[in-house]
Amino acid sequence: MPDPSVRLSGSVRGVDSSAIRDLLTLTARPEVISLAGGLPAAEMLPTARMADAAWRVLRSPEAAQYTETTGIGALRELLARRQSAELGREVDARDVVVTSGSQQALDLIARALVDPGDAVVLEEPAYPGARQVFQSVGARIESVPLDADGMCTGRLGEMLAAGLRPVLVHTVATFHNPRGVTLAAARRVRLAALADRYGFLVVEDDPYGQLYFHTPPPAPVAAASDLVVRLGSASKTLAPALRTGWLTGPRELCRAVERLKQAADLCGSALSQSIAVELLSDEEWLAAHLASLRAVYGERATALAAAMRTVFGERITCTDPDGGMFCWVQFRDGTDTDRLLAAAVTRGVAFVPGGAFSPWLTTALRLSYATAAPEVLRDGVARLASAHASI
Ligand code: PMP
Repeated sequence: MPDPSVRLSGSVRGVDSSAIRDLLTLTARPEVISLAGGLPAAEMLPTARMADAAWRVLRSPEAAQYTETTGIGALRELLARRQSAELGREVDARDVVVTSGSQQALDLIARALVDPGDAVVLEEPAYPGARQVFQSVGARIESVPLDADGMCTGRLGEMLAAGLRPVLVHTVATFHNPRGVTLAAARRVRLAALADRYGFLVVEDDPYGQLYFHTPPPAPVAAASDLVVRLGSASKTLAPALRTGWLTGPRELCRAVERLKQAADLCGSALSQSIAVELLSDEEWLAAHLASLRAVYGERATALAAAMRTVFGERITCTDPDGGMFCWVQFRDGTDTDRLLAAAVTRGVAFVPGGAFSPWLTTALRLSYATAAPEVLRDGVARLASAHASI
């Protein structure tokens, strides 16, 4: 029997499938060295510490119940204290909403703020999950370029001066996905000043900020303006499966997000959130865990960038990451990275081609170094070189 045809809404018809999530299913074979996904290293997931916490938490009926839509009080209070220290001003626990990963925060923010046809500014290249969300609400997406110091706020200033009136500007200011760059301190202040002047909200999407290798990143954009909604996540520092993210921002927005979250899923998982509280409030353990993540990812980043330079030399430019999970590579010789990917997968290595982030970036690619040890990364780069030689 033929499949019944289903009439889909206009909003879903405007949403592209995530090229990265599609690619991840392709590269799940164990023989493939995947430099594609932005996942934490399996061996760095704190499974033993989570098992202890879960054992304790599972004995309390509250962790097995429905909970407040905005998240369990203990987690919101802990996050409010942490944000107060980071922003240098008091953040109230009522202005924190816990979400199912920061991806849900993006979705709820988009639905709270954007009407079809409203302008939304994304970085170019953008985190594809943000593009999908803003497509789903019918936003008119405008792009602002990035350079080695992050978003070109000068260019954004020109676009605003020329009449652009976005409802929001999305930025991954620290250890950008996919570019790996960090927004310079002066540009953070400039972005905050533009938000104040033109009245848009900055969505400061910050899942990677704690993963710095040497020095902490500059103060958040949210430290310089109240017109910022800041997103955090336990996915990269604890475990993605906790599906625990959060947002902090203007109270009116938090209440709108709360209403939309009631409609979306009533509340998040009290069980996951209680495990997150156990881990995040154990300061000594957390400091040691973050220190080992920083050391391991830092070593891998150095190994990958060095191997890419040794093998490809002048044919590429390659970022030297200061934190996060990604290395961005630009081919100078015009290599089409979609074609390179097809050859690479047959040789057992995968990456994300630049076209997944922007249709113009056909000669760039994103490599993630998080999940592979240095010797595996070197093997992956050798396979990539053999793929490059074959096309
Ligand atoms: N924002 C950015 C920039 C990301 O890279 C990711 C995950 N790849 C997310 C948000 C969503 O992560 P999560 O929902 O797991 O918190």
